[in-house]
Amino acid sequence: MTAGVEGKNWPDPWSARVLTLFPEMFPGPLGQSLAGKALEKGIWRLETVDIRDFARDKHRSVDDAPFGGGPGMVMRPDILADTVDHVRKEQAPNGTDRVIYLSPRGRRLDQAMARELAEQNGIILLCGRFEGVDQRALDRREIEEVSVGDFVLSGGETAALVLLDAVVRLLPGVIGEPATLEEESFVHGLLEYSQYTRPQVWEGQEVPEVLTSGHHENIRAWRKAQAEELTKERRPDLWERYLRSAKSRG
Ligand code: SAH
Repeated sequence: MTAGVEGKNWPDPWSARVLTLFPEMFPGPLGQSLAGKALEKGIWRLETVDIRDFARDKHRSVDDAPFGGGPGMVMRPDILADTVDHVRKEQAPNGTDRVIYLSPRGRRLDQAMARELAEQNGIILLCGRFEGVDQRALDRREIEEVSVGDFVLSGGETAALVLLDAVVRLLPGVIGEPATLEEESFVHGLLEYSQYTRPQVWEGQEVPEVLTSGHHENIRAWRKAQAEELTKERRPDLWERYLRSAKSRG
């Protein structure tokens, strides 16, 4: 299945190819709102490949019991490699899309990684199921592992949706007001300051006075102080890194 305009008014749309046992889970939530509109406009492309199409028996099985025993099933390396080889063959000769296996053992996804992936031509995402995949498939096909956090999901599909959401919103033209991307959490190594809108008084609570002052320099300073305070309190790890990089900037 190919969703979105086939690059008609966009020379080289960023492309995601998702290898999964559940192709109908895509585009799912990414068919809505910003990502959905961008998909329709052809700013990015999404293709799913059903791993089961590469099964070798009439039952279309893709998994088997783990060597060494233990619970659950493991996805077979031969079938995974055939699927990866197929999508790699399909890409343009200069295409070097990275293959990423969504995995709790992987490098943790963060904003810097999302930005880096948005700068590529596209990516190939492998979604695991059951207990995971045979290690040899990852080794032989040089597949990177990326995790969306320190918890275990029942499959790689929701992780792939998270990763794609983070990347797609960074593609040029997806967010109408690019300044939005400059201000938000993690961009400058800090969490975002608190936001307020109308009504100005709600349940007896006023919005912070400085925000209604119209004094842009004070507002900027207040927001920066707030972002720093919040980061220090909630994410000491980010705060340490922020201080170090501030020091090295001099
Ligand atoms: N037995 C594995 C977990 C398997 S969960 C382990 O203990 O590491 C089944 C599938 O869900 C995995 O193959 C992977 O593709 C996906 N998955 C689970 N948690 C994830 C996470 N935190 N990040 C990315 N993918 C995850």
